[in-house]
Amino acid sequence: MSYSDAVYSKAYAILNERRNRAIALCDNKKAEIFSRLPRAEEIERELSSCSINAARAVFSGGDTKAQLEALSNTSKTLKSELEALLASKGYTLNDLEPQFTCKVCEDRGQVEKDNKTLTCNCLKELLKECACNEVNSLSPLSLSTFESFDLSYYPETDTADGVNPRRRMTQIFNYCKNYAKTFTLASKSILMRGSTGLGKTHLSLSIANELLSKGYSVVYVSAPDILFQLERAHFSYNYDKEQELLDTLSNCDLLIIDDLGTEFATNYTNAQIYNIFNNRILLRKPVIINTNLTMKDLETSYTPRFVSRVMGTCDKLDFVGRDIRPQKN
Ligand SMILES: [Zn+2]
Repeated sequence: MSYSDAVYSKAYAILNERRNRAIALCDNKKAEIFSRLPRAEEIERELSSCSINAARAVFSGGDTKAQLEALSNTSKTLKSELEALLASKGYTLNDLEPQFTCKVCEDRGQVEKDNKTLTCNCLKELLKECACNEVNSLSPLSLSTFESFDLSYYPETDTADGVNPRRRMTQIFNYCKNYAKTFTLASKSILMRGSTGLGKTHLSLSIANELLSKGYSVVYVSAPDILFQLERAHFSYNYDKEQELLDTLSNCDLLIIDDLGTEFATNYTNAQIYNIFNNRILLRKPVIINTNLTMKDLETSYTPRFVSRVMGTCDKLDFVGRDIRPQKN
């Protein structure tokens, strides 16, 4: 997994902020405790001199066993005294230690194991999140929720082919709500089809918002934007950038590709769309694809291989009704 310098510096900035904050909060708490309980500060000093003496004893050699045992007993007694003292004013021993977000690396992002420096899982998560945010920064991600989706825009009278738009859209709405509610990394992929202005973007962003609030990494891209970015990176030989984008699209928990079919299609974009989708399917990770194209258009615009892959793996939601945007205005 490769990330740009920008993504690394953002992730490290967040880690530093977490660590500094934990230390500052602890310093304040300690100052408060020591002003109320001066003996607690003395005990802390005595405890640290115990551990310094223990280290000295080990270095100086001789009968270290007896010395260390005595020191360990003193420190145990001091600790229980401290604990009781703190409890008398409603504090605990934890109040004297910084409460780091990650207990494993103490918000440093790295851990030492078998003489090797390893990236802590918390930093891996953070890098993934920052890379997603970078892609999402171009999207109107915060605008849509299930609560703001209004079913009353969809007519209750059947269309010529016998579909009741209100009923169909209620089913689709419930499907999407349930999808967000029960989402796991093994959830199915979805193909949302239907003309412009029927709520595909709104419902897919509602899913995105709900999953983001649950801590999943979601990337929302419009097909023309992301394909343009990829193509520009590729043809200006910026292969690192191209790979970083592709990795982010592959690795996020849910990828949403909006407006498929409105991109300026080239051999490159068609191949990339297939690769992006296929990679996700191979990794068993869900994708939501939104398109205005009919089945027939899809078949003429993309390779049969792509269309059959999409049809074979996605739950299909066919949006119906009248364009709701003029109605809203
Ligand atoms: Zn960590």
